[in-house]
Amino acid sequence: MVRLWVTDDLAGGGRAALTPDQAHYLATVMRLRAGDEILAFNGRDGEWRARLADAGKRGGALEILTRTREQAEGADLALAVALVKRPRLETIVEKAAELGARAVPLVITERTNPGHANLARLQAIAVEASEQTGRLDVPQVAAPERLADLLSNWPSERRLMFCDEAGEAPPALAALSAGGEPGGAWTILIGPEGGFSPAERAQIRKLPAAVPVSLGPRILRADTAAIGALTLWQAALGDLGGA
Ligand code: SAH
Repeated sequence: MVRLWVTDDLAGGGRAALTPDQAHYLATVMRLRAGDEILAFNGRDGEWRARLADAGKRGGALEILTRTREQAEGADLALAVALVKRPRLETIVEKAAELGARAVPLVITERTNPGHANLARLQAIAVEASEQTGRLDVPQVAAPERLADLLSNWPSERRLMFCDEAGEAPPALAALSAGGEPGGAWTILIGPEGGFSPAERAQIRKLPAAVPVSLGPRILRADTAAIGALTLWQAALGDLGGA
């Protein structure tokens, strides 16, 4: 069944507005008609069966029926990623949504390519991936921030899984199993195409919350590193561990 993320509150007997894009998608792409059912979620009220009430050029509306799932909080996991080139960044945002990150803060580093990220497009990718993957919330893609600022305001209780390709860090699974209890707040940090500078690596490692990890003896592209790191984190501390 089609799943849509909406912004309105969801409650039985209520209505939720559709954007013009959503109305077009349901009516023209999916060929749904008034009365057809979909699933709707908003990140707050769980997931609901909903009936298409109307869909036109200026938007549309859903009638909210019954709740299919209660809202559940996922792990407090963020994926901080340096601004890499657009196709890879888009892949990273999509995979972060699929693999359960709650936020994707973008980071400017010394070796980041200048140029701006299209936040609206990246957020739309996060929404679409969340709709198809069945999650009940959508990760927030946060505007680019300088690494130095990110580090100087670091919340002390949030652990930082520092993906360091330079070869001195212990393997990720061992480092994570030793470094944390399931349930804590974590951010995974992935660098740009050119890697972190020596000064940046030293600065990150100075942070008491930092847990440097290796993703193996091969140098990975940022998108591969992100997918690998998210999977290993979920295996050690999240919902892939089977614990
Ligand atoms: N400095 C590298 C490229 C960086 S790869 C070069 O030789 O050109 C981009 C990012 O992916 C890195 O900054 C790091 O965060 C992550 N990464 C890639 N391979 C990794 C590995 N084997 N272990 C840990 N992190 C890795």
